[in-house]
Amino acid sequence: MMNLTILGSTGSIGCSTLDVVARHPDKYRVTALTAQCRDEVLFEQCVNFEPRYAVLLDKAAAARLAQKIAGANLATEVLCGVEALERVASLPEVDAVMAAIVGAAGLHPTLAAARAGKKILLANKETLVMAGAVFMDAVRASGSVLLPIDSEHNAIFQALPHHYSGNLAASGVSKILLTASGGPFRNTPLSELQNITPEQACAHPNWVMGRKISVDSATMMNKGLEVIEAHWLFNAPADSIQVVVHPQSVIHSLVQYVDGSVIAQMGNPDMRTPIAYALAYPGRMVSGVEPLDLFKVATLDFEAPDFESFPCLKLAYQALRAGGTAPAVLNAANEVAVAAFLDRQISFLAIPRLIEEVLAALPVVAVNTLDDVLSADAAARKVTLERVRQMISPVFTA
Ligand code: NAD
Ligand code: MG
Repeated sequence: MMNLTILGSTGSIGCSTLDVVARHPDKYRVTALTAQCRDEVLFEQCVNFEPRYAVLLDKAAAARLAQKIAGANLATEVLCGVEALERVASLPEVDAVMAAIVGAAGLHPTLAAARAGKKILLANKETLVMAGAVFMDAVRASGSVLLPIDSEHNAIFQALPHHYSGNLAASGVSKILLTASGGPFRNTPLSELQNITPEQACAHPNWVMGRKISVDSATMMNKGLEVIEAHWLFNAPADSIQVVVHPQSVIHSLVQYVDGSVIAQMGNPDMRTPIAYALAYPGRMVSGVEPLDLFKVATLDFEAPDFESFPCLKLAYQALRAGGTAPAVLNAANEVAVAAFLDRQISFLAIPRLIEEVLAALPVVAVNTLDDVLSADAAARKVTLERVRQMISPVFTA
């Protein structure tokens, strides 16, 4: 029996994880579930999975949940706050942690799981983008097993040699081919991108996801973050990671070898496949995903990415090459810009503009400790927020 903590259980990845877990009650027990503020959804999950702990970030939501739990006579203990997230990510009785909080908020609990030597099912790519060096050091020091959930990285993990040592050349790998759907605006002319609404940006053609990652997919920052994620997971330099636009999202990524072989992982675009793979690793188990019908797919298309229409991808490569705190700055500026776009404060095209300005405004500092990352993150958020305010009321702030 594997005991699980699911960080971000009310989100898209969290719900897909519980869907897979529910199919295998003989293999997995849910020890802790966590969410930001959606106490009603978390309560339903507590009824269905009877975790030992349920954590909400929000105090008022936690009080409501505790009342409902008591009313339903459940044994679940309700906790609240960031420390509680870290605690349930590192409990001695927990074997594996699904890290599925969105954004920088996932960093502390995911790092706590790494420091405690847990098996980590990593969906929260922002942890690696912000603090790749610190996080990977923690994973190595504790002996954590790190399994990528992001579909592309899960595919690469499956296509690499079984006991990949972190050295591409020694494994005969010449390139990692990271596929991208191209998002909802792949064929939208640049002139029309200015007036994109949050609703349009969140309507992804192939995947149903949370709002932040949906906007990231629309700007292609998601692919940029994934390039950085691949760098840390597979010890791959920027030049070895090539983005390939593949609109059908059937090939989830590929590994190209020096002998000319290219190994791809394919399947329907459904996150339950990588989740089930990571849960059952090194075995396989049923995930609930429909088998792939190649006759229905019929065609697989590939295109080079358009760096002009989607400058976020270029900015992410730049930040990766700059190293140090640059990716943390990129991530923080992106989070603030995306939130402002979702709040209808700035336009879609202002997202890359803001990120570029903030990257240029802040110095790149070497990352030696977590504090270096947190300082860069805080500075970038402050500068980005200031620029957002200037954009909203240019006359007032002039
Ligand atoms: P989501 O918005 O659907 O869910 C986010 C979860 O995190 C929710 O449970 C929410 O309560 C929790 N959360 C949000 N802010 C929090 C905070 N400040 N403190 C504590 N908890 C907080 O997001 P998602 O689409 O499930 O994505 C989760 C992560 O997985 C992201 O990092 C995303 O990039 C990654 N990912 C998602 C998909 C996908 O298909 N959805 C695919 C690949 C990777
Ligand atoms: Mg992905």
